[in-house]
Amino acid sequence: MTTATTSKSSGGTQPLLVGRGITKQFGGLVAVDNVDIEVGPCEMVGLIGPNGSGKTTLFDCLSRVRDVTVGSVEFDGQDITGKRPHKVAQLGLSRTFQLLRVYPALTVLENMELSVQWRDVGLASLFRRSDSTTRDQADHLIDFLMLTRLRDEEAGTLSGGQRRLLEIGMALMSKPKMILLDEATSGVNPSLVEQIKERLVEINRRDGVAFLLVEHDIRFVKDLCERVVVLNYGAKLAEGRPDEIMENRDVIEAYFGDSGSVAT
Ligand code: ADP
Ligand code: MG
Repeated sequence: MTTATTSKSSGGTQPLLVGRGITKQFGGLVAVDNVDIEVGPCEMVGLIGPNGSGKTTLFDCLSRVRDVTVGSVEFDGQDITGKRPHKVAQLGLSRTFQLLRVYPALTVLENMELSVQWRDVGLASLFRRSDSTTRDQADHLIDFLMLTRLRDEEAGTLSGGQRRLLEIGMALMSKPKMILLDEATSGVNPSLVEQIKERLVEINRRDGVAFLLVEHDIRFVKDLCERVVVLNYGAKLAEGRPDEIMENRDVIEAYFGDSGSVAT
């Protein structure tokens, strides 16, 4: 499947993704406020924060779905601040969306095939027939993600968790070096959450894919990530190991007022 292990141009020591001083304003609202963030090759980093704290907007800026108001983004040693999203995907930065972007009337297999086509050559050839390599790769990923039984079902019939798995598969089709994963567990049955976790770990360990995981729920990232970045009101509130973050007074206050603990 994916072969990326380390960043070619960085020799594996420099960060793969670097956001510097990222600020995004919507009119008068500062949704992301001067955030520095780095993710190394093969690293799994969590990005958490209360609802509305700017996680998705930061993702949009990093993956070039939105222009930054101020700041710069580098991926694999290249400045991507002005690049189009599909160019960024070609460089090896893939992402999923908080609001699912699967095509409900197409089958699981068709969604997988389409995802690689627009990343490879743009929307113009969306309906080009896919070749056998693409088909084999899609089938391999469908098996890996436990969707074999649903391969020829319309994606609109999948459960929330199955659709999340499909989205992860779609993000993997372009053989990325890194995936930005937005709310992999939202709307997912708890029994599937564990399986999604296991698959993510395997993609990371076996294929060397780096992850930046956006989650509302700190418990999910604590099992997967060695480093967590916390946003609050668009700004970076804290950064550190999950256990440190869960004890951090500022983080506890941001999530629960000063009455509780983030730990479970
Ligand atoms: P999170 O993903 O952490 O829940 P978001 O990035 O979605 O947060 O939102 C951060 C802030 O930016 C919120 O106040 C939200 O209302 C605002 N926001 C997000 N997208 C837009 C937009 N397209 N236009 C105006 N405000 C937006
Ligand atoms: Mg969000």
